[in-house]
Amino acid sequence: MTALATSLAQQLHQQKSFFATGQTRSLDFRKEMLRRLARAVEQEQEDIITALADDFGKPAFETYATEIAILLAEIKFTLKHLHKWMKPQKVKSSFLNFPSKDYIYAEPYGISLVIGAWNYPFQLTLSPLVGSMAAGGCTLLKPSELTPATSHLIATLIEKHFPQEYIAVAQGGPEVSQELLQLPFDKIFFTGSTAVGKMVAQAAASQLIPVTLELGGKSPCVVDASANLPVAANRIIWGKFINAGQTCVAPDYLLVQETVLPALLEQLKKTIQTFYTDHPQDSPDYARIINDRHFERLSRLMQDATVYYGGHTDASQRFIEPTVLTDVTWQHPLMQEEIFGPLLPVLPFKTLPEAIDQINRQGKPLALYFFSEDKAAQELVLEQTSSGGACINDTVSHLANPHLPFGGVGPSGQGNYHGKASFDAFSHHKSVLKKSFWPEVNFRYPPYQDKLNWMKKAFDWL
Ligand code: NAD
Repeated sequence: MTALATSLAQQLHQQKSFFATGQTRSLDFRKEMLRRLARAVEQEQEDIITALADDFGKPAFETYATEIAILLAEIKFTLKHLHKWMKPQKVKSSFLNFPSKDYIYAEPYGISLVIGAWNYPFQLTLSPLVGSMAAGGCTLLKPSELTPATSHLIATLIEKHFPQEYIAVAQGGPEVSQELLQLPFDKIFFTGSTAVGKMVAQAAASQLIPVTLELGGKSPCVVDASANLPVAANRIIWGKFINAGQTCVAPDYLLVQETVLPALLEQLKKTIQTFYTDHPQDSPDYARIINDRHFERLSRLMQDATVYYGGHTDASQRFIEPTVLTDVTWQHPLMQEEIFGPLLPVLPFKTLPEAIDQINRQGKPLALYFFSEDKAAQELVLEQTSSGGACINDTVSHLANPHLPFGGVGPSGQGNYHGKASFDAFSHHKSVLKKSFWPEVNFRYPPYQDKLNWMKKAFDWL
């Protein structure tokens, strides 16, 4: 066993012993710890903003809105509803078991491993943690190595405010994840790419560990001829270029009804200029690409497409201008992988069924966006496509409602979180049947004699 493997195994062992004391299970403990987390995040806001700026030039407004506020809102929502979620839920009992009282008890899985992605490195690691804390478990966090300042900040914040037998942080890259995936955790919650998600699922399967996979994919955005183009452009440009396009639910590509294509392109250009000026490189509101590898990947992807707007890059700053691309075919490299950057290919379509057919030829996406005034067309798109989530006449925002479970389907993920779904993701729902000693109904016991006929009659009455 390597030194790394030994220390991670010891860490897990400590957490298992702490969990076994039962301390993490009471409502009071869970609420106190969640409040502590909220206070820590509030206190360290400025450091969080600085860390994200160091990692990839993320604007303070975006860090506050998409990393801090969203996490604090999640904690607040959880604190408000936790007592209800924890209560055993009474369900109808079955005639066959008469008399009995039947319940569903939510119990914590135990020790959960949370592996985070780099693109919203703070909240993608700590938001699942809220679910694990709410469920009454212990947690080991593995933030992304690609955002070292934020990962370091997460480790420091957790160490300062929580005992490590309750919440611990393991920093490092795939080598650390690989070691962690060998250990007998009770639950694995992974956010990242579909390719790594498959490895995580395989490792979890080999130990039969329940797993939630929050993955990516190519989320389509469709605009039909009835859409309000200026409003659609605002919402598309915002969802695409926030975090410089490095958002799992960013509109990956645009499908536009051909009759409104020139007008929408013009509107997209105007909107980019309004949001980020004519010189986005000088805009304080626009982030950078995470590393050189992704900068080069994105620069390569732009080749052989017509740049309708943008296209300027600066390797020294890992800057890629908000870019709209046309003349893109379905065979183009841009359409073969998740773009995950500020490149927006725009493809025309003639009829809505044609657009739906094209979408359904791709893997089921994490999100789907449809801009249209036509209510029947909206329902048609929702009914005839499958995606993790969807917005009508908006992008990205569905993930900010804790009443909506967030997650993918098929290649874009399995399982959900946010709000009650987070509590459920880290809980086992145990079915419990309760009886008293009286009355004792003997019907089910041998000798069966003529009980079969009675049984058949009873089923006829049901
Ligand atoms: P990634 O899969 O490369 O890395 C995610 C995590 O897995 C990191 O902590 C990393 O250290 C670890 N990892 C990497 N390679 C590994 C390996 N071989 N074995 C074990 N662990 C390994 O993903 P990323 O680049 O950090 O994030 C981008 C992807 O995540 C995109 O596809 C994006 O759509 C997706 N994503 C999904 C969501 C969601 O909520 N569904 C949110 C954010 C990002």
